[in-house]
Amino acid sequence: MDLSELEVALEAQGTRAFHARQIFQWLYRKGLTDFEQMTDLSRELRSLLAREFRVATPQIVERAASADGTVKFLLELSDGRHIESVFIPDTPSQTFCISTQVGCAMKCGFCLTGKMGLVRNLTVGEIVGQVRVLAGELGLLSKRFNIVLMGMGEPLHNYDNTMKALRILADQHGMAVSPRRVTLSTVGVVPGLERLATEPLMPNLAISLHATTEDQRDALVPVNRKYGLDDILEACSRFPLKRRSRITFEYVLLKEVNDTIEDARRLVRLLGSIRCKVNLIPLNEAAGISFERPSDARVNAFAEVLASHHITVSVRKSRGRDIRAACGQLIVEGLGRSPAQQAAALI
Ligand code: SAH
Repeated sequence: MDLSELEVALEAQGTRAFHARQIFQWLYRKGLTDFEQMTDLSRELRSLLAREFRVATPQIVERAASADGTVKFLLELSDGRHIESVFIPDTPSQTFCISTQVGCAMKCGFCLTGKMGLVRNLTVGEIVGQVRVLAGELGLLSKRFNIVLMGMGEPLHNYDNTMKALRILADQHGMAVSPRRVTLSTVGVVPGLERLATEPLMPNLAISLHATTEDQRDALVPVNRKYGLDDILEACSRFPLKRRSRITFEYVLLKEVNDTIEDARRLVRLLGSIRCKVNLIPLNEAAGISFERPSDARVNAFAEVLASHHITVSVRKSRGRDIRAACGQLIVEGLGRSPAQQAAALI
């Protein structure tokens, strides 16, 4: 529930709407989920809440720390499914990398999460809950942090829940995470992009481009057959950007597949008229992924072409690779594995 839904629900129970704000503060600022401990509420209200409401919180079942400070969390949901969420410190800010689905339907050829297939969408509470639980665990609830929707799943494939979660995260009575601190990364679901363009609360936008021709992208990102490169770039060129803000294009670099100087030049031409920056992601290799990471020299040569055409370019550092927490390495192994997951784990 967002704040106004909670207000309505409280009124329906014969209590006053303003208690919703108090509850939000306990939940999202103090990280408390036990109504009994919400001491500025009357005893009657606390027992009514305990009777009529439930705070479903993803449970941390595993926590793995990388040598570089990144922490990967395995979370169990109320139906026993699992997802992963990652804390990435000092980027220079603190960043939570959050999932929007259990698994993913997009099946990008270089991404391990795609091997799981889509199990289900996360609920609004599960999306917000990841931030609440991780920030609580790390003592960051009252601190400033960034959120990237770059964990498991395709956020625009779970549009309504994702956007409602962002509205709750932004609520001043809760964690008050400004949408400017949130980056939504998408494979480019065009109808979703068009809806996003009309949202009052607008996160930063990152598009996973990864290729410079339709054929090449069809092969790497299967959903390109439905929402092609041209259509995505068209939607991006019409996307309403605030002053000084830019679209980020992510480009995973795969050795001898999409990392040539020719590819870089084509990328320059494609992005020509869009206010943007490019984030190159040298492939994070994994068992079951049949591509290779290019050498640093090749990555640099690619970046140089973009920079020499005045495109702002950065190379993403792969954080948490030693604990398989880096981009494209999130996959839940264990109970309830799908056949595809089992195959991926075996390979
Ligand atoms: N579904 C969203 C979020 C994906 S994760 C999207 O497609 O944007 C964030 C980024 O990591 C995406 O750009 C994704 O394509 C990239 N990625 C996936 N697997 C990767 C891998 N093995 N190595 C490097 N980047 C990868």
